[in-house]
Amino acid sequence: MTAAWEKAVTASRNDQARKLSGKCLCGAVHYAVADEFVYAANCHCSNCRRATGSAFKPFAGIARDKLSIIKGDEDLMIFGEEAGHDAHCVRCGSLLYSVVRDGAYVHVAMGTLVDAPSIRPSKHIFVGSKAPWFTIADDLPQYQEHAEPG
Ligand SMILES: [Zn+2]
Ligand SMILES: [Zn+2]
Repeated sequence: MTAAWEKAVTASRNDQARKLSGKCLCGAVHYAVADEFVYAANCHCSNCRRATGSAFKPFAGIARDKLSIIKGDEDLMIFGEEAGHDAHCVRCGSLLYSVVRDGAYVHVAMGTLVDAPSIRPSKHIFVGSKAPWFTIADDLPQYQEHAEPG
């Protein structure tokens, strides 16, 4: 009996959640995402290095339905499968987010956020494949591959 009511309350609470905006380099693609990221990390794997052209990729994870494309849907270039892909701007190439975990989550490339999120990257992952020319200079925990769940 209370389930529907609880769902409605949750939905309205979600509607009021702070929204962050993000965009690609050229501005063709704009997205909005709730400031409710569940985790954030710096990934040092070679795929993230190549996708970003950087030493590592800071990313923040959230349920896929909490991110929406505000502008430039037709300018999204999808690299990968429906249930797991990187989404780039087709014009400037910015990596905006990745769809992961069988399509349930997105990993937002934090460098494309316009607004500052509440969350901060809390660990380094895939340090086992880190670029040898880059030195991690903070005290965050380091994991050779994936961090333990939770
Ligand atoms: Zn662009
Ligand atoms: Zn990675």
